[in-house]
Amino acid sequence: MKITFHGGTREVGGSCVTVETEYAKVALDYGISVGEKVSNNLPNDVDAIVISHAHLDHSGSLLNTARTKTVVIGSDATRDVTADLLQDLIDIQRRNGKKGFYVKEDVANIKRSWWVRNSVALPDTEIRLYSAGHVLGARMIEIQAEGKKVLYTGDFCLHDTEILQGTDLKSLPKEPDVLILESTYGGVTRLDRSVLIEKLFDKIIGAIERKGNVLIPVFAFHRSQETAKRIDQAMIEGQLPSYNAYMISPLARKITHHFNRHKASLSPEIRDQEEPFAYRHVKYLRKVRDIEEPAIVICTSGFGHAGASRRLLADWAPDEDNAVIINSGYIPPDSPLKIAKEKSVLVENGNKILVKAEVEQIELSGHADQTELIRLVESLKPQRTLLMHGGFEQAQALSKKICHITSVEIPEKSETIII
Ligand SMILES: [Zn+2]
Repeated sequence: MKITFHGGTREVGGSCVTVETEYAKVALDYGISVGEKVSNNLPNDVDAIVISHAHLDHSGSLLNTARTKTVVIGSDATRDVTADLLQDLIDIQRRNGKKGFYVKEDVANIKRSWWVRNSVALPDTEIRLYSAGHVLGARMIEIQAEGKKVLYTGDFCLHDTEILQGTDLKSLPKEPDVLILESTYGGVTRLDRSVLIEKLFDKIIGAIERKGNVLIPVFAFHRSQETAKRIDQAMIEGQLPSYNAYMISPLARKITHHFNRHKASLSPEIRDQEEPFAYRHVKYLRKVRDIEEPAIVICTSGFGHAGASRRLLADWAPDEDNAVIINSGYIPPDSPLKIAKEKSVLVENGNKILVKAEVEQIELSGHADQTELIRLVESLKPQRTLLMHGGFEQAQALSKKICHITSVEIPEKSETIII
């Protein structure tokens, strides 16, 4: 069996690994890197592509396969959200005036080629999917072939969040020959989630007491629904006082429909609600100018590069009564949010804006931290562990902690490992 790493090695972005036997060749994920349109150097001779979850660094190159009708395997929620995210990629290109190669029909083709299954049998190859936590619809992927067992984690977490349960370790296949493990936060340990949520509410309440605005930049998929639901629920239960609260992101709104439709794959409390993501306090707005201040605004883009979050960051940064809350763990060094946080300055249309608003990073991640990654390895006892989807330092930090349990390698791009 040949395992080849085509992307997502020693970095976060563009995940793609192929598993090849005498009879079948399967790609696990088919992603793009941040800022990339589609990746042109991924293999196109595969029998099937299994997508772990809808994030574009795992699914964004699927447009390449739209006209070849390659079989795609994954959960129904991943299919629906991926389709929206791919359509958004096409729309962004069009808005930027580039006449793109791909059209709406390509997205429809990918949906038609999608097999929603928890297990698939190919010649001498069995594929099984397991819930991974992380985001709606995310799955780990097991491949059994030639008497070998490989488990690819994709992105996962063991901890539960308000809307989604983490991976159930008991459900996963034990003692795989190979574990292909994400290592995004391989060197990071986090505070307990309940402590972080308390901190988040403290910051929001602080701004409310100052009659300030609160800006929460988020990604359109999962983080926006999770954040809106958390704030809505806290206002219903009285943990947060009633305050104007808005969500501004047409894409997030579109994706939220899938959260209502696929609520069965979310946490038990969510499943029991009729329409869990029809918020009572958080209202959708189309335009920034419709905000009634002071307010809490959840909006895209997640890093403050564009859209409502960029505009509000510039508008609200100079006022010390306001607060900006960053939920993401990773923020690109060149992003307005990072610069606002670390240098207390913003540059908008060539003008320098001093950031006086409180800028706080409270990392409410959907990824496993180091403690969770070690727990997974301790529980599964893999023979070999191949680390990907993490910077080299993160992978090395994790490697040191698990090398007494399993043999660990940190493959490079294009590297093939023979099992
Ligand atoms: Zn992800």
